[in-house]
Amino acid sequence: MPIALYPGTFDPITFGHIDIAVRASKIFTKVIAVVADNPHKHPLFSVRERLSMVKEAVKDVSTIEAVSYSGLIANCLKEFGATTIIRGLRALSDFDYEFQMAFTNRNINTRAETVFLMPSAKYVYLNSTMVKEIAELGGDVSAFVPAAVMEQLYKKMKR
Ligand code: ADP
Repeated sequence: MPIALYPGTFDPITFGHIDIAVRASKIFTKVIAVVADNPHKHPLFSVRERLSMVKEAVKDVSTIEAVSYSGLIANCLKEFGATTIIRGLRALSDFDYEFQMAFTNRNINTRAETVFLMPSAKYVYLNSTMVKEIAELGGDVSAFVPAAVMEQLYKKMKR
């Protein structure tokens, strides 16, 4: 199986994101996590910070890499000579948005195919927004993100 791109905001990376990346790495020769440099989403962490946390989180899996990208994912595929996009599907609520995005990407790049993977059941209700809210209220997020990410979160919240 060829290269697959795994795009996302990763603000910040959680165990749910990692679960999907690792599952994808068992199917594809190489998985490249693409950290979106999209200021419209007003992420908490800069693209540099998000990329560095993703790199740290996947450093033990040699077939998973991470890059940042500021354009369309359909164009990013071409740059990497890839045609596959990985996305995680948690609940039905993800479906409509993901369905639209998969078709949009295919409209822009006819070779783009989106592959959806389901995380471990324990991560089905996990998302970055929830993690940020818990951290902001001083709660424990150690079950949701790697220790290095937790540290960055608390540092950010103190400011
Ligand atoms: P985006 O802003 O592009 O949706 P995210 O960082 O929120 O970026 O998510 C990137 C991808 O990771 C999406 O496909 C999303 O569904 C998936 N994802 C995020 N959290 C989880 C999780 N807990 N389990 C499975 N997939 C997840």
